[in-house]
Amino acid sequence: MVVGSASRGCQVAVIGAGPGGYVAAIRLAQLGKDVILVERGPRLGGICLNEGCIPSKAMIHASDLAYDVREGASMGISVSNVSVDLAQMVRWKNGIVTRLTGGIKFLCDKAGVEIVRGEAELIEERRLSVQTADGQLLIDFEQAIVATGSSPMELPGFPWDGTRVIGSREALELDQIPGRMVVIGGGYIGLELGSVYRKLGSEVAVVEFLPRLAPALDPEVGEALTRRLEQLGVELYLGHKAEALEDGEPAQVVISPVDGGESVRVPADVVLVSVGRVPNSSSLGLETVGVDTDDKGFIQVNEKMQTNVPGIYAIGDVVGGALLAHKAYQEAKVAAGVICGESVAFDNVSIPAVIYTDPEIAMTGLTETAARERGHNVVTGTFSFKASGRAMSLDSTEGFVKAIADADSGRILGIVAVGRGVSEFIGEATLALEMGAFLEDVGLTIHPHPTMSEALQEAVEAALGKAIHQVNR
Ligand code: FAD
Repeated sequence: MVVGSASRGCQVAVIGAGPGGYVAAIRLAQLGKDVILVERGPRLGGICLNEGCIPSKAMIHASDLAYDVREGASMGISVSNVSVDLAQMVRWKNGIVTRLTGGIKFLCDKAGVEIVRGEAELIEERRLSVQTADGQLLIDFEQAIVATGSSPMELPGFPWDGTRVIGSREALELDQIPGRMVVIGGGYIGLELGSVYRKLGSEVAVVEFLPRLAPALDPEVGEALTRRLEQLGVELYLGHKAEALEDGEPAQVVISPVDGGESVRVPADVVLVSVGRVPNSSSLGLETVGVDTDDKGFIQVNEKMQTNVPGIYAIGDVVGGALLAHKAYQEAKVAAGVICGESVAFDNVSIPAVIYTDPEIAMTGLTETAARERGHNVVTGTFSFKASGRAMSLDSTEGFVKAIADADSGRILGIVAVGRGVSEFIGEATLALEMGAFLEDVGLTIHPHPTMSEALQEAVEAALGKAIHQVNR
């Protein structure tokens, strides 16, 4: 119920305080704009800080620790009676969320960003209505940025009930380790969270429609991941479709091969549905002001993050593409820069991506397949972590680094890495791409020894036929 109505003005209104919105608001304030940041949720930070990137990585780390202490026998470490208190693990994770989201509030306050709590809707080209706890607030703006993010997609036949059929949010809040978990969707979120529960002791089955994991990457990546997941005891049903949920204790997930054949019933105490995300664009008043979306509801923008309506920008998950926090950060800086008259655009060479499974998968630039499809005469070099002293010392020799380059010019086109901790050096590989580096540039760069990042230098040297720590092909 609207109990009152007030109005305010500002130069820029930002809707949504996730990685897109809060970064845009802070940057705008740094550049001297009077900014209002509107957030409907109880905390700033969006999906990323509250129920996405950070909480999932905290749970991954904790489950790795629980797993590693049980697996230390070959190094002479045996720990008996290891027990996991999931409720405490979740409390620890929530403590991190509280610290980080509070930190964002502090940074916004320090930058002079005004925060308004409530649900925003565009009601005119230059006016927002915000439903706050105290009533309706009208905000008149000169320019606006829509950064409302995305939500998990529902799967027909598997309606969420928050306990038996859950999404990623609930999977990060369980207080008991499920006996049997079925994960529907073998994308990165499903695989990361499925691995967490497998390492904590659940029986985990993953049902994926496509015939292989990591289908956007070169086949050896999915093969390495599949091998390791099977070694961990994750049951993989690739090329299978989840069709129905049958009641019972446990419930049964009915799945069938995509290319025909007998259906199978997989028992589940908990079903985690992770089949994609949809943009939060439907109740924003976009039609009222004439902002164009595509047929899935993602807002259409150009490389300056401008929508078709002058003065209205959109960034982050709500515009589609790679639904990743660091893409949202960059788009936020571009939109803020454009609003402040800077000559900037989203023209990055690469948006790196990481899957935090065991082993991690990190990639930047083109895959070998994509490079060939674009007509490059391709040369590749691969270095296996089986030959890496650092990987051996970490007892993590699964994986490799592969460098993909144009054979004629020697320019690096892409890097794919599979292995422990590879997320930490994919930024270096991305810098190489952004700077138009050639194989020699990375090959001549001294990498500290012993590190996993040496494998990047070795892979590049292998592409040059100059590998030292493995036999050149
Ligand atoms: P969001 O983070 O979704 O924020 C949008 C905000 O807008 C929300 O706070 C919402 O409450 C608010 N809002 C929506 N509508 C309104 C309205 N009408 N009025 C006011 N406020 C509104 N990305 C990575 O890069 N690395 C990872 O490791 C990673 N892990 C992930 C793990 C999981 C389990 C999930 C679910 C996601 C993960 N992501 C990861 C994706 C990442 O979280 C998103 O890409 C990122 O949060 C998108 O940022 P955003 O600002 O566009 O939107």
